[in-house]
Amino acid sequence: MQKNRLSATLRDEKMFEEKKYETGKNRTTEHTSGNTKPHIITPMEPTFIFDAHLDLAMNAIEWNRDLTRPIEEVRERERLMTDKPDRAKNTVTLPEMRKGNIGLCVATLIARYAKPGNPFPGWHSPEQAWAMTRGQLAWYRAMEKKGEMKQIACLSQLEEHLELWNRKDTSNLPVGYILSLEGADSLYQTDLLETAWQEGLRAIGPAHYGPGTYAHGTDSEGGLGEKGRQLLKAMEEFQMILDVTHLSDQSFFEAIDFYKGPVWASHHNCRSLVPHNRQLSDEQINILINRGAVIGTSLDAWMLVPAWKRGIDTPRSRNVTLENVADHIDHICQLAGNSLHAGIGSDLDGAFGKEQSPLDLETIADLQKLHHLLALRGYSEEDISNIFHGNFIRFIRKIWNESKLYSL
Ligand SMILES: [Zn+2]
Repeated sequence: MQKNRLSATLRDEKMFEEKKYETGKNRTTEHTSGNTKPHIITPMEPTFIFDAHLDLAMNAIEWNRDLTRPIEEVRERERLMTDKPDRAKNTVTLPEMRKGNIGLCVATLIARYAKPGNPFPGWHSPEQAWAMTRGQLAWYRAMEKKGEMKQIACLSQLEEHLELWNRKDTSNLPVGYILSLEGADSLYQTDLLETAWQEGLRAIGPAHYGPGTYAHGTDSEGGLGEKGRQLLKAMEEFQMILDVTHLSDQSFFEAIDFYKGPVWASHHNCRSLVPHNRQLSDEQINILINRGAVIGTSLDAWMLVPAWKRGIDTPRSRNVTLENVADHIDHICQLAGNSLHAGIGSDLDGAFGKEQSPLDLETIADLQKLHHLLALRGYSEEDISNIFHGNFIRFIRKIWNESKLYSL
């Protein structure tokens, strides 16, 4: 990977359009073989994308979105709704994922518990939060029955799924998902971890926003506590992936020291570019790199540019583009000195839509535009493949290969 930066003039949107970069599947691969350097007009297949963070079931159950339908239809049904800021602006559906060759993702169960006095919204008991995750899981199961999605929970399923998506026409294939739990409050007793593991849960972020049962999350400060350490011990037995995203600094450092299993950061950007406790400091990124982790870059506008004012700023007023996404990816690669630790954890359906996404992204399929932007910065085809899917897949293969639990 070269360290050359994109010149300021090429950020001009008009010029970008004139290059007529195609993200469609009508391109051919003939010109990509050999040692030819990546070039913006080189026709190629869209590179397979692994998105390490989507809240698909939350969208289905809490936002009432039928993600099997065309995106125009989902938006149309929300045209007059005003209950949430992202109504009629969603960017994620299963057909759009197929269009963008996003054939595998990490999909969440997410339900927070808020104790009395907790300033963050959430369910008023962990049992209610657990029940919400049951509803979300039921939706994933229904998607599997319909052939819309496919759960990936062990090595053979992973290899089979990747093989399937290797074919030319992927327009009718099930989107693969690895189940993750964003915020562990819903595990109201620790033996539920085994139940969840048997259901295919493979990664856990112990906390979300505020103080949680097992750790402190974004915008709160504190450590793990006894319950948190018990959870991590139990996770270790299953070689579950510890997702450090959303951990407060103290919880992050304690968890990294305590946990002996695999660690990643599913949707997490760089604090040195956009200061906030939700972001990773360079020290934390270096620790993750040394630990062999992969960090998924998120596309939420407030995490891409500094001092974003929610509900006031717009992607246009702040000129937030996919270039900013490339900046965060690049920062991780520069710290690592290679392209082996950066990935995509778009979070594009994480309670925001077009009003808080890069302005050159209409739907999640436009993640493919990052290919062109990274190539312009000197990233090779191999680097881009690493970032688009290779790093996360290598990471998962390694864990599942080494553990008898997953290599059945
Ligand atoms: Zn999140």
